[in-house]
Amino acid sequence: MPNLSCPLCTMDDTITHDSIHECMTCGHEWQRDDIPDADTPEERIVKDAYGNTLEKGDTVQMIKDLKLKGSSDILKSGTKSKPISLQEGDHEISCRMNGIAINLKACFVKKINK
Ligand SMILES: [Zn+2]
Repeated sequence: MPNLSCPLCTMDDTITHDSIHECMTCGHEWQRDDIPDADTPEERIVKDAYGNTLEKGDTVQMIKDLKLKGSSDILKSGTKSKPISLQEGDHEISCRMNGIAINLKACFVKKINK
């Protein structure tokens, strides 16, 4: 890969770091633009049914009955979870309820204030 030219001094004695280019001639540093979505925040905000922000380790409570897929178990409204963790996908919450490991949509729960 040929070196880029520095936008300031136009010399091509440049090196590329994780997120920036650096010019060895004049010391100029500039952002790499070849990293897709480099500045998309990694942390996604997950909110419960009432708009409270959920964080890993929070405890939540069901706000409606939810039949579990592939079983006859029903999580009753009011069932409390063990401390949750957050994950990618449309079921943002991973936790245990009644001893069952489940993935939940955040819109079915409310955060319990500690
Ligand atoms: Zn330069």
